[in-house]
Parts: sequence; C-alpha cells; structure tokens
Amino acid sequence: MNDRAPAPGGLALVESLVNTLDIETGADSLDTAEGRAALDLTEAGLASARELRESLRAACLAHAGHPPHRTVTPLGELLAQAPLLITVDERDGSASLAPARPALLASRVAAAIAEAVTAGTWLRLKACEAPTCRWAYYDRSPAGRGRWCSMSVCGARAKMRRYRASAKESRDSR
Ligand SMILES: [Zn+2]
Repeated sequence: MNDRAPAPGGLALVESLVNTLDIETGADSLDTAEGRAALDLTEAGLASARELRESLRAACLAHAGHPPHRTVTPLGELLAQAPLLITVDERDGSASLAPARPALLASRVAAAIAEAVTAGTWLRLKACEAPTCRWAYYDRSPAGRGRWCSMSVCGARAKMRRYRASAKESRDSR
C-alpha cells in the first residue's frame, strides 16, 4: 500500500520496480504486458528483473535497519554486471553517470542509484517493516526514521496488533 508521493528523480524507477510485487496477495504486475511495458522490460529480461527486485527490496529494508526478507543475491553482485558511462556535456563540461546499456534494466537501476547516492537520497528509499507488506517508500520524515509505507495502513495495523497482544496478555494474566 502506498499513499505517498513517488521517490524523487531516478529513484522512482527503483521504487516502482520493487512495488511491482504485492507480497500479501502474490500479484505481480510483471506478469502483465502492461506492467512490463511500464519498465521497458521484455519477457527475456523477466527472471533477472525479479532477482534484481528482491535484492533491491533487501537493500531498502537494510536502509530501515531490518534484515533481508529472504535470501537474495547481493545487490552489488547484480550491479557489477550493469555497465555505466560517464557522459559529459560539451557546452558546460558537466558530467553525469548514465546507463551504458539503457535496454538493460540493471543498467538503468545502477545509474538511478548512482544519481541518488550523489543527491543523498538513496538511504531514504526504504521498505515497510510489516512482514506482509515490504512495500518500498521514500521516507520524507525529518529525522529519517519512518517505519511503514503508510501510517494509516501498516502503521495502524501494527498498532492494532500490539494493542490486541497486550489486551490478550492482560486477559491471560487475570
Ligand atoms: Zn506497509
């Protein structure tokens, strides 16, 4: 679930890739032609896109201080196969990192991460701590301590669970 504004700049690509899978229902928008088109993905690139998605989710969880949700290929390993180029604007000499193979999703993701690291936004792309959610969201809280994709959905659910658990405890101890 997400009622937040999308992540800034190229990070929106990473966020939308992670959120192609709804962990709770298992619905995967990469199963649909429309979902693949949104990420310029071909069917041939599907398996590696799914692997990259879960490695990115684990990195987003790590940004929030959580362990990986499952065993994943280390993100660095996947990005090592994603070539980047330094492009230079001849008019003003400014330089930036760009995907060397834009057709390759991993290459576009690597460029987006490099841009986010420079902008100081990478560590704020997090994944929700609710085990049934793990949705990626951009943490805009001033202290950078957000925990849920949405306070009104997962935050409220977590509070409700704690409330029920403590109500049960007090019943059991009677
Ligand atoms: Zn959530």
